[in-house]
Amino acid sequence: MKKALFINMCGQGHFNPTIGLVKELINRGEKVTYIAGEEFRNKVENTGAKFKGYKKSFDVQNLFNGNLNLENNEPLLKVIGTFKDIVDTLFNSNEKFDYIIYDSAFMLGNEVGRLLKIPAICSITTFAANKRTNCLLAQIKKFGPNIQKLLNSLEYINFVKYLKEEYGIKCPSIITAVSAKGMINIVYTSKYFQLCGESFDESYKFIGPSIITRKEDLNFSLDHNEKKKIIYISLGTIFNNSFEFYENCFKAFDNMNVKIIMSVGKNTDINKFKSMPSNFIVRNYVSQLEVLKIADVFITHGGMNSTNEALYYDVPLILIPQFIDQPSVANRVAELGAGIVIEKDNVTPKVLAQSVVDILSNNNFKTSSKQIGKSLREAGGYKKGVDEILNSNFVYEEVACDIEK
Ligand code: UDP
Repeated sequence: MKKALFINMCGQGHFNPTIGLVKELINRGEKVTYIAGEEFRNKVENTGAKFKGYKKSFDVQNLFNGNLNLENNEPLLKVIGTFKDIVDTLFNSNEKFDYIIYDSAFMLGNEVGRLLKIPAICSITTFAANKRTNCLLAQIKKFGPNIQKLLNSLEYINFVKYLKEEYGIKCPSIITAVSAKGMINIVYTSKYFQLCGESFDESYKFIGPSIITRKEDLNFSLDHNEKKKIIYISLGTIFNNSFEFYENCFKAFDNMNVKIIMSVGKNTDINKFKSMPSNFIVRNYVSQLEVLKIADVFITHGGMNSTNEALYYDVPLILIPQFIDQPSVANRVAELGAGIVIEKDNVTPKVLAQSVVDILSNNNFKTSSKQIGKSLREAGGYKKGVDEILNSNFVYEEVACDIEK
């Protein structure tokens, strides 16, 4: 039995895929302490792990309000605050660990491993990044001036100084931080779906999505013998507050002989919709994994979790990417032939309706999604992830960044 420390600092998308892994570690006799925002306390404790909380995780997307156009330093202060909370919690405790598993957004993960002389394993809930993929690096270049502004700020300079003086932590460069590489890198997709999958070394373990039974009520009944095609629509849990988009969906599918299940997010007041066509079921939240089992097409924002989940169940996609990694995810789906990308500014009822017709009338989309789905199901999931962790030799080694050479 070994003791693992799990560190997570972002929202649902970074947290959910880790639950299966943590449960399985505990099933195999490991002890796990999980540091995360207070909002995850119950979910962590339900796995049997010990929870150590800080106030609230930040959500990269919410933080930058979709465009990283910084008018003030508030987002930076939130990020620094979370990092500081985590590091203080970690180094002011006498608990000893055999290894760390850190979310890729916790850019100090490797450095903490170096200081504690224990292996640091990276948990990557989006595409892994290296010199060949350049997906996140492209975002950094795009937002470069704003990021530079943050790095030059007095708050950041003082933070770097604090880490060095207080704990001996060397802050990694932004590029090393993006690579986030650990001794072992657990990626929740398949090598086939990963951008440039073959270019990653053996330390990258592509385990596929973590599909676990979620204790959720469906909150409406699904007729599995339904003759009509079923279209599922969701923009995920963050960028989902778009009345205009949902109204466009009503107009697009009102007269189409399909059944629509639409999840509009917890902050959308369903009563405010002017009229709702009779072929729509609209909810604030649905049991997505259950819906995907019977869906014929998924209209999505291209979140990594939603995309992997849909493809796991062989569902072709229409992707309307919003931010961060979603354009890369959407383009990868289109590149492999499993879906159609619509730029968010080009969404109209006509384009939506035509895209659904295109997907349903061309079997190649289904064939391609089945091929990705097979790769995801065969990737082994959280059990394979735990095998990889427990089969490692648990000796600390220095890790070089794959991008910075
Ligand atoms: N989800 C769900 N029901 C909903 C909407 C979302 O279960 O009605 C889940 C979905 O299964 C996925 C997660 O929320 O696991 C969304 O994650 P994703 O990375 O796709 O997008 P984000 O919400 O982070 O933008």
